[in-house]
Amino acid sequence: MPADSQDKKSKYLGCLLGGALGDAIGELAFRYRDRQSLEAALARAEMLRYTDDTAMALGLAESLARRGILDQEDLGRTFHRNFLKEPWRGYAGGPPTVFQMAQGLGLSYVEAARLLFGGAGSFGNGAAMRVAPLGLFFYDSPEIYEQAAASAAVTHAHPLGADGAAVQALAVAQAVKLNPREPFPREAFLAGLRACARTPEMQAKLCLLGDLLAAATPPAAAARALGQSVAVDESLPFALFAFLSHPHSYADCLWDAVLHGGDRDTLGAMAGAVSGAYLGLGAIPRHWLEKLENHRLIEAAALALLARAPRQNKE
Ligand SMILES: [Mg+2]
Repeated sequence: MPADSQDKKSKYLGCLLGGALGDAIGELAFRYRDRQSLEAALARAEMLRYTDDTAMALGLAESLARRGILDQEDLGRTFHRNFLKEPWRGYAGGPPTVFQMAQGLGLSYVEAARLLFGGAGSFGNGAAMRVAPLGLFFYDSPEIYEQAAASAAVTHAHPLGADGAAVQALAVAQAVKLNPREPFPREAFLAGLRACARTPEMQAKLCLLGDLLAAATPPAAAARALGQSVAVDESLPFALFAFLSHPHSYADCLWDAVLHGGDRDTLGAMAGAVSGAYLGLGAIPRHWLEKLENHRLIEAAALALLARAPRQNKE
């Protein structure tokens, strides 16, 4: 059942704020690695700071809202400009290298991204970690895969990097369409993601994810089984495990995502965005949201995206 317009607004806000908060809390979880100490650190913190995941998601939201389409070069320029303004956000090596090469060699961002890793392109999770705004923008579009892959190509040229971005975008899109007051259709949700994945690596991991959920595997064991590197076929499946284990609780989803090792900020960003897109803004603890850095700016980005979303997305 499609969400009504108030629900949709709440879901857009929940997705971007939920992703940013997951990023910030995941980053904190590198230092406070059990729930008790993380909760204590959250209570003490005056401000929750997000990292490159959210900075880049905001860049994608900004470019989509400004252009009304996915424009790769505008997106590359936006990412580049935002990086130069805040280079201290914890960027991995790939994107800054792409920005430098594009500028230094006079290449498009897409061409520069193809030169990474000896011409193979990156299959890290950097395209998936930032893709949530595109999942919102194209949630009802049959071209969501191609649009997500095009957004990935600006920094992540490897087919697996694009596949991860597409699967995460679809997870957000499916979450937007579902009514959280109805029973959560876990099997159908996962089947949709499996049908979307095009690389054997991602397909195999999504099958394993289904097996782990069916066996009620504890999160620590699931994290080990799915993998804990920054490769997108290791981190994204565990973020989805966290959401699918706790579809009705943003906080429980987040604890699972960030407290079991791996790329904690990005796991929090990806799981938090899907959870927020499903449950809406009201499900995100207000006392956390109030501490989130730039939360008014993130709200404005979500509303600008909603205002500019393609016609088929409007009620
Ligand atoms: Mg980060």
